[in-house]
Amino acid sequence: MRRKDRKLWIRDMAAQRIVRLFDLAEESFDNDPDLSKRYVFLARRIGMRHRVRLPSHLKRKVCKGCGTYLVPGASCRVRVRGGRVVTTCLECGETSRRPFRFV
Ligand SMILES: [Zn+2]
Repeated sequence: MRRKDRKLWIRDMAAQRIVRLFDLAEESFDNDPDLSKRYVFLARRIGMRHRVRLPSHLKRKVCKGCGTYLVPGASCRVRVRGGRVVTTCLECGETSRRPFRFV
């Protein structure tokens, strides 16, 4: 296997593991929010090591401040304000905003 192919393969594996860890985080959230936080932490660390970005739909589910897995109505508050979606972490109060596009 060529070096470059190998690198791509490793990144692909890393991306798959990240998605899997987020699945686990979602499953464990109801019973053990701390465990889902741990899964998210591992997913981010794998991403950093292999320089794989978190997919945007998963990135939205993590608090930038404390790494909590964000579930609307449980660990975060979601509001629409000034044309943006504002997500507030109920654990640490960190907010993230993203533009809202009408389709
Ligand atoms: Zn937080």
